[in-house]
Amino acid sequence: MKPFAYIIAVILAATACQGSGQGRISYVPDTTALNGAFEIYREPTIAHRRFKHADIEPLILKRKGTGIFDVTQLGVSVLKKPIYQLTYGRGAKKVMLWSQMHGNEPTATMALMDLFNFLEGEGDGMDSIRSLLKTETSLYFIPMLNPDGADVYTRRNAMDIDLNRDARAGATVEGRLLIQAAKTVQPDYGFNLHDMNIYYNVPGTPNPATIALLAPAYNEKREINEVRADAMKIAAGINRLLQGYIPNGVAKYDDTYSPRSFGDNFQSWGASTVLIESGGYRGDPEKQFIRKLNFIIILNSLIEIAQGSFHQYSIAEYEGIPFSASQLSDVVLRHVGVSRDSIDYKIDLSVNRNEQTDDRNYYVQSHIADVGDLQEVYGYDELDAEGYHFMQGRIHPRIVNSVDEISPEQAMDFLRQGYHAVQVAKMPENRHHQLPLIMFYQRKPLAASPSLGSAANFFLARDGKPAYAVINGYLIDLSAQKQPQNLKNYIF
Ligand SMILES: [Zn+2]
Repeated sequence: MKPFAYIIAVILAATACQGSGQGRISYVPDTTALNGAFEIYREPTIAHRRFKHADIEPLILKRKGTGIFDVTQLGVSVLKKPIYQLTYGRGAKKVMLWSQMHGNEPTATMALMDLFNFLEGEGDGMDSIRSLLKTETSLYFIPMLNPDGADVYTRRNAMDIDLNRDARAGATVEGRLLIQAAKTVQPDYGFNLHDMNIYYNVPGTPNPATIALLAPAYNEKREINEVRADAMKIAAGINRLLQGYIPNGVAKYDDTYSPRSFGDNFQSWGASTVLIESGGYRGDPEKQFIRKLNFIIILNSLIEIAQGSFHQYSIAEYEGIPFSASQLSDVVLRHVGVSRDSIDYKIDLSVNRNEQTDDRNYYVQSHIADVGDLQEVYGYDELDAEGYHFMQGRIHPRIVNSVDEISPEQAMDFLRQGYHAVQVAKMPENRHHQLPLIMFYQRKPLAASPSLGSAANFFLARDGKPAYAVINGYLIDLSAQKQPQNLKNYIF
């Protein structure tokens, strides 16, 4: 693969000046090569967030005995699922990376599978990276530390304990495995890989905090020793690289000292540890773009650690990253006209869609999250509804046998006529559907109301005519010819 040949030159140049000691290595990540590496090595068997332990176990076990990774079983989870460690390289700088200690935070696990594919590759113009990593670092990967939580897509483990609040007590089986691994390896660097709520934003902007970074504190006073300083520099490098992909889309995670958490403890045990939190990104519900960002920043950080080039970044640069805010919603509607109790008024409405897991799939249940003056709230989708009025929908008189009886075009016509719900005569086995309608069997939808917590099913009308529909929290423009895509709706 010729396009990547020049990354060798960049890395060799960077390594050459390393002798000068105090790390003023001017290494510039080669994003063309990093992007290309992701496209080539993306693990094709995982394409959405609700994969399970059984999906990644074969991807780990197939590496046993290939001579590239050492694969060891650290132990088993509460429900007896094996937890593995994959080791790569024979270098002096020891790096430990663990993912998905919260079961419903899978983005980095996907990226680690991609990274394993990359590390196994050869003859693609990127062998110089592999030999750099192999000679300078020893990498200890622990993917999916919480397989029981992952399999039912919950944060906590099967003992109902939050693993990331168990670093001090060591009460959980899985937490103890990580403590033991850290004691055995004594890593110099750590990567604590998580997902966070998609409603975090970069303060004062509508930008989701797509990635949040933190060099966790090791004491209450949040002092900076050499260990933490190095973590800050690595994070500053990650931020600089990310700005090219998601300008103004990076934030710093809350840095309050958390004596129960792993990142804070790793830092105090002497490993320069970076917390990477994957948040949200517009148009990426399955976080596949964020997976790519994870791959790129993790791989590049490893290159920077191997070369020592992260010393080119400063603590001040890290401190300049803004702390994340929590000002986002899925939909924000501004200046909506409402008539209620003989009063006419205008309000802003925010709507959130909550995911409900159904095995490897999910549907959403949406509600009005806030009502009032929401000028400081931002939406993934926003509409200035000045001149539009909140309007209830009606149930269509037709009862259908199955969702398939209604085409997406028909559904849009129903909405334009002010119908937002249709009854089905019997409950099908597969209750998921993608129509922009409330489909129900027996649970008739309640009359819509612009009030806190109520279901987000209503119209915005002009002169009594529906112009927009909000159906299960999805904002639908009724003048558009295009059908809304990828709705995660469910029959009730
Ligand atoms: Zn987490």
